[in-house]
Amino acid sequence: MNGLLKKIGEGYKKEEMELLKKAMEFAKNAHRDQKRQSGEPFFSHPYEVADILAELGLDMETIIAGLLHDVIEDTNITLDTLKDEFGPEIAKLVDGVTKLGHFEFKTKEEEQAESLRKMLLAMAKDIRVILIKLADRLHNMRTLEYFEEKKRKEIATETLEIYAPLAHRLGIYAIKAELDDLSLKYVDPQGYNELINVLETTKEQREKSLKAVMDQLKKKLREAGIEAEIEGRPKHLYSIYRKMHEQHKAFGEIYDVIAIRIVVDTVKDCYGALGLVHTMWKPLPGRFKDFIAVPKQNMYQALHTTLIGSDGVPFEVQIRTREMHKTAEYGIAAHWKYKEGRAESSGLDAKLTWLRQLLEWQNDMSDASEFMQTLKIDVFSDEVFVFTPKGDVIDLVKGSTPLDFAYHIHSAVGNKCVGARVSGKMVPLHYRLQTGDIVEIITSPASHGPSRDWLKIVKTQQAKSKIRQWFKKEHREENIAKGRDMLEKEAKRQVYDLAVLLKPEFTEKVFKKFTINTLEDMYAAIGYGGFTTNQVLSRLIEEYKRTVKAETKQKESEAKPAKEGKPDASEGVNVEGEPDMLVRFARCCNPVPGDDIAGYITRGRGVSIHRTDCSNFKSIMGLEDGRLIDVSWAGGNKQAYNAQIQILAEDKTGVFAALTQVLASNNVDLYAVNARTNNNGTVTINFTVAIQDASQVEKILQKILAVKEVIKAHRVSA
Ligand code: MN
Repeated sequence: MNGLLKKIGEGYKKEEMELLKKAMEFAKNAHRDQKRQSGEPFFSHPYEVADILAELGLDMETIIAGLLHDVIEDTNITLDTLKDEFGPEIAKLVDGVTKLGHFEFKTKEEEQAESLRKMLLAMAKDIRVILIKLADRLHNMRTLEYFEEKKRKEIATETLEIYAPLAHRLGIYAIKAELDDLSLKYVDPQGYNELINVLETTKEQREKSLKAVMDQLKKKLREAGIEAEIEGRPKHLYSIYRKMHEQHKAFGEIYDVIAIRIVVDTVKDCYGALGLVHTMWKPLPGRFKDFIAVPKQNMYQALHTTLIGSDGVPFEVQIRTREMHKTAEYGIAAHWKYKEGRAESSGLDAKLTWLRQLLEWQNDMSDASEFMQTLKIDVFSDEVFVFTPKGDVIDLVKGSTPLDFAYHIHSAVGNKCVGARVSGKMVPLHYRLQTGDIVEIITSPASHGPSRDWLKIVKTQQAKSKIRQWFKKEHREENIAKGRDMLEKEAKRQVYDLAVLLKPEFTEKVFKKFTINTLEDMYAAIGYGGFTTNQVLSRLIEEYKRTVKAETKQKESEAKPAKEGKPDASEGVNVEGEPDMLVRFARCCNPVPGDDIAGYITRGRGVSIHRTDCSNFKSIMGLEDGRLIDVSWAGGNKQAYNAQIQILAEDKTGVFAALTQVLASNNVDLYAVNARTNNNGTVTINFTVAIQDASQVEKILQKILAVKEVIKAHRVSA
């Protein structure tokens, strides 16, 4: 068991070696009563994992964390104990590995696997955690034979879909190839054995031609004065297997069963060697790849070409420098290799180290945007990975909300969404999802569908267009009415008479611009959010002005000011002595019929109607004389008004559903919902509802207060 100590005995500091010895004793002791499936003492596992990490040349913290990686999970050692004994860095690495272990990666289709790989990277934060996880998996794969067949297949499939591609992504070819080949052995034992056999039977022939090629190469390179190491071998099993199966080819049809590798000192020699190789054998067209000029995303650099040998059998040649070779074999792990004087960086935040390494790589890369791309993919700053309650991973843009999640699942889920729980807790619909969140959408058949405000909350285009679609499809009548109303209000706000603006001479051009056919289509489009009122209105005004400009100035008053307009009976308010005044409802207090109201004459925007108990109104009233005007409710109208209700309730499952149920069963339309959780286990919810009059608000409040979890409820007055 001292092989490991011997192996890494050189180059590390004395204290580091002491700590390593201590970790070995510690792990051995912690796992003393446990056995592996093979019957060996459990300690053999963490020991081998540490050995793999040492082989990769990683820093001492990572190697020690490898020795300790299973103690939290499998023994009664706590994180605090690890911190005390080995310091916070090592404890953090072990904790990271333990946390990753808590996710169950079921075998899924390719897309799902990709999300899982990304999520693993995003979750790990410190990339060394992933390296330990890979070493852990590699050793488990090496000892997989001790498991029963079903389990073997499961683990091997998962390795093939998640871990080997992950190693590939990080450019650790040595681990990737071994994981691939070990997986193949268990996933398709027959295919594996056939391949082994065919390689065996063709071995002699292959080695003969390989030797001939290499001898010729050595001679020519020496003559050209290029110093090179040449190595030839069959490619790894799984890559041959995949080519045969994906391209339905026989073994003999696979070009690059053999790869010859030429390792030289400089980039110049790479191209020199390439030129030489191309004079010696005929290159196969379309097979040359320059990964030196354009490195792969995982930093891999080399020149690849396929040549036709003198016996007619194609073979692949890879040419690279020593530095590139190191990166190709060990990927990002190569950059943790112990170097003299590296000690000063060991205290750095691991994430900074990671970024620093990337920055170092940048120097070797020709293309800055390629570098940015790498950084983005590896750090995943613009994505979040969340779970469904069933454990499926959903990949969303950063800043996404539960609504984006709901619409991602299905538009029916989004449209019926009345609330959301994240990791068991109610969250407001505008909550920003975090990687690792388990998101549960609460739907209610009583839901009236999405609120228009959702368009402002959601982040993804997908959700936006699904919400618009809903407004478009399900509620054309309503949209027309809503759109007309919105346009009228906005016109009034800007003091234009809509009737004038909607003369066919103006609308004709606007319709054309927006490719709509009728006035109703236009209203409907505004109603479901296809266009904003301002988009449409500013066009109309533009057309109007263009026409009027040509006419006399006096005529401009035809559409402006608003006094020309009709008394606004639809608003249901009479203005004392001024039947023609424009009125609008103040947004601060949203009066509804039955409220005590007063009017305030604005400059150029008609009369704004406030509730007399509105604090805004009270403050204006104190400041300005002569601009107040008596107003009263006109009877008999059935228009809906907005009212805001604020509710304080216990933060419990089903509160949202119960409340929306109250509204629905009383035929009250919900316009907007806003909620925030308080840290004392309560939630504050704001509903904006459509109300006929003040007495109806009172009635609803009583019903809401009857809901068990509700603590307080009142109508909001500014
Ligand atoms: Mn393990």
